[in-house]
Amino acid sequence: MGDKKGVLAIVSGFSGAGKGTIMKSLMERYGEEYGLSISATTRAPRPGEENGREYFFVTEEEFLQMIKDDNLIEYANYVGNYYGTPKQYVMEQLAKGKNVILEIEMQGALKVKAKMPDTALLFVTTKDAKTLKERLTGRGTETEDVIAQRMKRAIEESSGITDYDYLVVNDKLDDAVNLVHQLITGIRDQKEEAFDAYRISSNIDFINEMKHDLEQIMEGE
Ligand code: 5GP
Repeated sequence: MGDKKGVLAIVSGFSGAGKGTIMKSLMERYGEEYGLSISATTRAPRPGEENGREYFFVTEEEFLQMIKDDNLIEYANYVGNYYGTPKQYVMEQLAKGKNVILEIEMQGALKVKAKMPDTALLFVTTKDAKTLKERLTGRGTETEDVIAQRMKRAIEESSGITDYDYLVVNDKLDDAVNLVHQLITGIRDQKEEAFDAYRISSNIDFINEMKHDLEQIMEGE
């Protein structure tokens, strides 16, 4: 790893696109190269989630205190709950030369990019809109109402993808994990040009089609 500076990368993506699974697999394979920031949230844990592993689950009062104490790099409200990135851990890891990945939503990602322009923004999507709806429904942990809200949010987010740097289509998990790792390593080694095909600007047609199809699915309900 030498004395190279760590890269700060943000992985965002449609709810249901498999960001969490990609992150888990990335850490299993290449964990020693990364610091994975754990966010704080006011949402309730899903079955199987543990405090301090997926998130720090906190009350709204505790969250507001963290904001007041300036302990968060960014925070956002996503479909009724607060989510935020604790500052101290991220800064420590980057200083140590580790790459840090934040798995956060779009409003927060853009706030971080504005503060730290070298941040690499990656957006994860399913291969098409139908697959996204199926994954959201198949997860079985969300109510119909929450699924509909998340689909609506996906449509809104599809307009914001152009502010990102790279698109990761999560069709085969292994490929998506390797791409994320290679991209971040490439950025660290200043070899970004090898990944031009994955730039957002190279995938505008795909993004427009996704948005159109998501809108059609929502209208059909
Ligand atoms: P979920 O409830 O499905 O775990 O997460 C909902 C959304 O919040 C996801 O898009 C996730 O990436 C995002 N998120 C998780 N942690 C943070 C955070 O610290 N800050 C921001 N802005 N978004 C986050």
